[in-house]
Amino acid sequence: MELLDGKFVSEKLKEEIAKEAAEILSNTGRKPHLVAILVGNDGGSETYVASKMKNCEKVGFKSSLFRYDESVSEAELLAKIEEINQDGDVDGLIVQLPLPKHIDPEKVTEKIDFRKDVDGFHPVNLGRMMRNLPCFIPATPYGILLMLQEYKIETSGKHCVVVGRSNIVGSPMSILMARNASPGNCTVTLTHSKTKNLEELVRSADIVVAAIGRKNFITAPMVKDGAVIIDVGINRETSAATKSGYKLYGDVDFENVAPKASWITPVPGGVGLMTIIGLLKNTLASAQKTIYK
Ligand code: NDP
Repeated sequence: MELLDGKFVSEKLKEEIAKEAAEILSNTGRKPHLVAILVGNDGGSETYVASKMKNCEKVGFKSSLFRYDESVSEAELLAKIEEINQDGDVDGLIVQLPLPKHIDPEKVTEKIDFRKDVDGFHPVNLGRMMRNLPCFIPATPYGILLMLQEYKIETSGKHCVVVGRSNIVGSPMSILMARNASPGNCTVTLTHSKTKNLEELVRSADIVVAAIGRKNFITAPMVKDGAVIIDVGINRETSAATKSGYKLYGDVDFENVAPKASWITPVPGGVGLMTIIGLLKNTLASAQKTIYK
């Protein structure tokens, strides 16, 4: 078994991103600028946004955070998005999910100018991705592609089983792995909670992408010898043993699955770090205007 090491790859790619950001600064006098909106005080969301902001600083981007109380109205949030859409100094805008129940995440996603949608959730970007056109690819699937590319994992002709069909991870991942591209050219099976023969399907996979949100969902008997295992899951459990007060677990029973796998991502230290890279690369591309003029 070999590790798909998100820490190693993300540090390497951050150095490359920082070089390009420095070039933009010397050519234009400005830094790529990412704006994040955070609503409420969800512990996970706080951590993710803080990490995104910190990584922006590390690679020489400007970052701004707008925080709102849980009670903010949908109208107020949409008005802020419109203001940021119009701001010529902003390259990328993300609204951290999940949002409170009274705010429609679809309205929020569609309100973001697709040319600043560096999370890649806007229907324009998803549609363009589907058609293999230049676009912002959703940050997590993008990060996974970069990881596969970095380790030169052969995907062409392989059977990829994606478990979970969310709009932000599972569904776009299934489309990307099936595209006529590299990485890509897989035969893809997209599975979810209504899938009948899930275990059998996962066992037939050369590549498994687990994006379910359940600790240890993928167990060793479900995995074929030599499979490539991508664990997207981030499951937080309180723990007295750690400084932060919680411990993270993936969707894969790492300890027992790893000996059977050819390659596997750890949690933490795998896909989560690569998601940040996806976001940074999209923001950089927006500042460079390589996707949209
Ligand atoms: P969602 O909760 O939106 O989707 C979960 C998916 O898993 C659904 O499609 C659901 O099926 C499926 N599912 C649930 N139970 C089963 C089951 N028993 N059998 C088969 N499928 C099942 O999750 P996300 O995609 O947003 O996130 C998944 C995980 O990835 C979470 O742990 C999340 O924290 C993590 N995550 C990590 C990121 C990273 O950067 N590493 C980024 C984003 C998410 P159905 O559609 O039928 O309900």
